[in-house]
Amino acid sequence: MDQRCWACGSACQAPQAAAGPSGAAAAAPFKCGWCGALNSVSSAAELAPHPGAPCLLLDKPRSARPAAVPYAAGCALVCIVSAVVGSIFVLGVSLVLPALFSPPALAAFHAPLALLLAVNICYNYAACVARRPGPVQPHLQRTAVDAGRVQRGSLDGCRYCEVCCYYKPAGAHHCSSCGTCVMDLDHHCWYINNCCGAANLRQFLLFLLYLVAGVAYGLSAALALGWQDRRAIAQHTQRVAQGLARFHPVMKALSFCLYWLLSAPAWLACWAYFTTVCLAAFTALQYIKVYWLLR
Ligand SMILES: [Zn+2]
Ligand SMILES: [Zn+2]
Ligand SMILES: [Zn+2]
Repeated sequence: MDQRCWACGSACQAPQAAAGPSGAAAAAPFKCGWCGALNSVSSAAELAPHPGAPCLLLDKPRSARPAAVPYAAGCALVCIVSAVVGSIFVLGVSLVLPALFSPPALAAFHAPLALLLAVNICYNYAACVARRPGPVQPHLQRTAVDAGRVQRGSLDGCRYCEVCCYYKPAGAHHCSSCGTCVMDLDHHCWYINNCCGAANLRQFLLFLLYLVAGVAYGLSAALALGWQDRRAIAQHTQRVAQGLARFHPVMKALSFCLYWLLSAPAWLACWAYFTTVCLAAFTALQYIKVYWLLR
């Protein structure tokens, strides 16, 4: 069966489509003998409407238009994460640590440690958010297309991205949230409102590492403080609850809620925090398993 390559327009001898289990002919992928681009029977037929006009699809710039509503929601989530991480350290350093440790121990060990964790968490998080996750290399674009012609073997293993209307090198995947193809895409992370790809995965893993260390340190310090002052905290919340319950029967229910809220949020927040961190780390670990260990 004769087909035209979507990239260079060369005539290719496509393999015969094999009938699938449902009886319908499945599109068989094949490689162009000139440029090396991967074609499929169906896409080659649809994407080369002008045989003999090479590079027709390659001379337009790659577009990156994120969807508006998810992008705005992602920005809000980035603000929330920044506020949560910032408040943990501001409150921890200004309230919890001075209450737990004497000034010499604080100055010699705990304050520098808290600062080190805070700086690394903030820097790696900002880098994850701000960096382009893995743009398809521009040098490939220059060498692949020269004077309107695709060079021999220059698109080896490249597929066609039907959303970008552009070529997609081996290892690149299209992210529908970012609206562009990303090299070595691991996943689109809503907590950084960005993809985790070739250019920012290192920062993402470092962010998770320091976050887990920071949360473990902060949690242990908070628990140590709570253990020291647990009687004072319990007595205080009980007094507030009893004071409210005297006014009205409805207040009894409210006081119970208040009592619960004053004692439970720290535990709930820690649980939610660790679950989030573990879920994010799990997807990143998928990357380590697939790309580093099995390579
Ligand atoms: Zn070709
Ligand atoms: Zn794409
Ligand atoms: Zn993305």
